Amino acid sequence: MRILVTGGAGFVGSHLTDALLAEGHSVLCADNLLTGCRENIAHLAREPRFEFLEQDVCQAFDPGEVEYIFHFASPASPVDYLEHGIETMQVGSIGTMNCLTIAQKHGAKFLLASTSECYGDPLEHPQKESYWGHVNPIGLRSVYDESKRFAEALTMAFHRYRKVDTRIVRIFNTYGPRLQINDGRVISNFMKQALRGEELTVYGDGSQTRSFCYVSDEVAGIIALSKSDEHAPLNIGNPAEFTILECARIVLETTGSPSKIRFKPLPPDDPKQRRPDITKAKHLLGWAPEIDLRTGLKMSLEYFQRAIQGSTACA
Ligand code: NAD
Ligand code: UDP
Repeated sequence: MRILVTGGAGFVGSHLTDALLAEGHSVLCADNLLTGCRENIAHLAREPRFEFLEQDVCQAFDPGEVEYIFHFASPASPVDYLEHGIETMQVGSIGTMNCLTIAQKHGAKFLLASTSECYGDPLEHPQKESYWGHVNPIGLRSVYDESKRFAEALTMAFHRYRKVDTRIVRIFNTYGPRLQINDGRVISNFMKQALRGEELTVYGDGSQTRSFCYVSDEVAGIIALSKSDEHAPLNIGNPAEFTILECARIVLETTGSPSKIRFKPLPPDDPKQRRPDITKAKHLLGWAPEIDLRTGLKMSLEYFQRAIQGSTACA
């Protein structure tokens, strides 16, 4: 297939691109490099089945004949989407509209990268796909949460009214090599701080939880979903849940760092708990994550060591 990956120069999008190329497909990556970077796709420079188009997907564009669109373009880390609030809302709405319109025009299948943020600060735990969420519609995080919720609604509308063959993946906190060192996410912050011997900044008392999925597990789940006939949203994440304080201790253990922990104020609307219920993905796709947090952090260590030395352009 010839496949369009929007946001393909980003963290998850670049790993997805690698996996699609490995399956024998051709990939056109459309990215405006707002939060991604060329370094993430530099290894594909001589790959004849890979094309890069520097493109803001909020502007109308025609990629030519494509058979599948993976729409991953969007700032994703809280630091990034708070800095680029309007751009985040534009890419979730106008960008998604443009990509769905291209899918309709070319008869292409479409997969939306959605997020566990659709559940907001969840009152149901763990989160099943049937849960509608608990989102502050005007809070700081709303630029991301509501644009993704709108993107999901728009995707379902194109499926229902215009018969576009769509999928929606709700991605839970994913980490691994190519995570931007300065994007402010907890794993990149902790790894950077630990390797530099700086204090690890735990926000609040560190009792809030997250469930971390290694990027190759995440991509395997996304590709399995893309091949299924499921049109409703599907959680893809690792259900092993950690408090942020536990996460800090595991990073210290993995890196062998002597760093101390420093507590800082909790940002507003920071979700207290996050854990995917992946029963549906297991039954539907036969998929489950294989890499636990300690193993995944060890597998990411070399990347973070290079990144803090500034030897990757993204850093
Ligand atoms: P990322 O910031 O590394 O990648 C996003 C990419 O989209 C970047 O390369 C950026 O330049 C590009 N982009 C942003 N706006 C664009 C626009 N208007 N036109 C073209 N390109 C644009 O983030 P990521 O972690 O790789 O996230 C990828 C997708 O997965 C996002 O849609 C995000 O919401 C979703 N997601 C990620 C996570 C996670 O833990 N990484 C969790 C939930 C959802
Ligand atoms: N966090 C933290 N220290 C940091 C960065 C993040 O304690 O240096 C916390 C943050 O408050 C949140 C969790 O770690 O509770 C996950 O944050 P992240 O930005 O990675 O993603 P989120 O799941 O909040 O979108």
